[in-house]
Amino acid sequence: MRRDNDNERTTDSAGAPSSAFELRFLGTGAADHDWARLGASDVRGSAGTLFGGRVLIDAGVTGLENLTRFGVDPAGLRAIVITHSHDDHFKPAVIAKILDLRGDGAERIDIYCTPQALEQLDAVLPAGMFQGHAIRSGDRFTVDEMRFTVLPANHALKDFSEEAFHYLIETPYGNILYALDGAWLTRRERLLIGDRQLRLIVWDATMEKAGDWRCFEHNDLAMIDLMMLSLRGTETVDEKTICVLNHIARTLWPEDAAEAEAIAAAHGYLLAHDGMRLELKSVRDGGRK
Ligand SMILES: [Zn+2]
Ligand SMILES: [Zn+2]
Repeated sequence: MRRDNDNERTTDSAGAPSSAFELRFLGTGAADHDWARLGASDVRGSAGTLFGGRVLIDAGVTGLENLTRFGVDPAGLRAIVITHSHDDHFKPAVIAKILDLRGDGAERIDIYCTPQALEQLDAVLPAGMFQGHAIRSGDRFTVDEMRFTVLPANHALKDFSEEAFHYLIETPYGNILYALDGAWLTRRERLLIGDRQLRLIVWDATMEKAGDWRCFEHNDLAMIDLMMLSLRGTETVDEKTICVLNHIARTLWPEDAAEAEAIAAAHGYLLAHDGMRLELKSVRDGGRK
């Protein structure tokens, strides 16, 4: 198992400076979608989001289709960052296929995940095909212009000693909190975010309504409202902070997309959908495009 001594690592930037930063939501479903029917309008892919066209967060069951159906060339990926090893977020065989499609000439790819997940990758991927990084909460690493802080999430894996992560991603376009899966924010996570202002939060919004048994590992809208209220009190967020609801369960939100979007909008949030683009312009230029 590899583990760097340093708490902070840097992946060199090859990218030219750009005027905007794009997030592409490739898969926005919880694990209850029927992925044999992926492509149907009521089916959301397994979790996966592309940052700056180069960093893929999570590659689970539909990880490969998430790229191919939206025309994302695997050869353009610089890093894959894993939140946790549930198979709707992490599937070694799928990652092997993605890496295979990159071809021989592709630039080195870095994969960041728990030591346990890295062991699984090492078992299926030939050495030299990727650079693995075993991470734990509190670590920091940088890919291109994105500085990641690894945050501990309240989300349990079968092996309780394996962590699940959220990420704070600091970019020249503002700070992003990527918070799925996991219920609430943990105390330590809140401390690691500190006094940084958040421009965008991607929330685990598995459930629409309160009162569900999953609330000890996923959020509903009432929980997100309470967290936003608290974060507003400390000026961590303001009225311009964009909230995207993600990890949407098929059975816990209205089937009708317009109805679900209207519910999110009534709370001031955006409901993610597969293929959705969000562009952050330079903080100096102001505002979301
Ligand atoms: Zn999940
Ligand atoms: Zn999970």
